[in-house]
Amino acid sequence: MTREEMHKLLTEAVMAWREATRHADELDDAICALLRGCPDPECATCAQIVCHYGNPLHFRYDGCPSCVAESKTHHAPETIQ
Ligand SMILES: [Zn+2]
Ligand SMILES: [Zn+2]
Repeated sequence: MTREEMHKLLTEAVMAWREATRHADELDDAICALLRGCPDPECATCAQIVCHYGNPLHFRYDGCPSCVAESKTHHAPETIQ
C-alpha cells in the first residue's frame, strides 16, 4: 500500500468513526493500525486527518496546539464579555 492509499483509508476510517462516536476521545483500533502503517510518526497528513481541528501538528512531541488549547479552555472559568 502506498502512503497516499493509506491516507485515503485513514480518512475514511476517521470519518466513519466520527459518525459513530462523536464524543469519543480515544481512537479505535482500526485507526491506530492505519496510523502505524504510516512511516512518519509525526506525519502532518495523518495529523490533519485525525485531529478534531485539522491541525498538522497534532502528533507533535509536546502535544497538539489546537487540542491543548481546547482542553485548557474546558478547565478555565468562563469569561463573560
Ligand atoms: Zn501519514
Ligand atoms: Zn489536535
